[in-house]
Amino acid sequence: MNATPAYDPDNIFAKILRGEIPCHKVYEDDDFIAFMDVMPQTPGHTLVLPKAPCRNLLDAPPQVLSRILPLVQRLAQAVKTAMGAEGITISQFNEHAGGQTVFHLHIHIIPRHEDQPMKHHARGFAPKEELEANAAKIRAAIG
Ligand code: AMP
Repeated sequence: MNATPAYDPDNIFAKILRGEIPCHKVYEDDDFIAFMDVMPQTPGHTLVLPKAPCRNLLDAPPQVLSRILPLVQRLAQAVKTAMGAEGITISQFNEHAGGQTVFHLHIHIIPRHEDQPMKHHARGFAPKEELEANAAKIRAAIG
């Protein structure tokens, strides 16, 4: 049997959740947080995470999974409005072989425009000023 490895509390998103390192936050409630991806595949690329310590989709409890998708929908609508996007790509990676690089469950919201290619996943930092400017637009669209 190929069990999902244990949650590692030293992953970088756990450190963000503990306030040990900063993020460009766009949304937070008691159970979820959303912030800008520092290596955006397109401008406005946002990540949505549960605060519960889940490694990925494979070990997340049903209560987390059933609540995260309505929030992803709400935030995707705000990201689309804020970035003037024509579409949204949602992605989610599980385990190294599945493309996962940070081992705390998160869902990618990637705003898309016709004929605009996506950059590679997890490569190339955006300037902080650009991330903060996009975060401010998304926060305003969430209301
Ligand atoms: P995944 O490969 O699905 O695990 O994606 C992890 C994502 O987190 C990548 O898109 C990275 O660009 C992004 N990322 C890595 N470190 C940080 C960080 N400190 N703050 C925000 N996003 C990050």
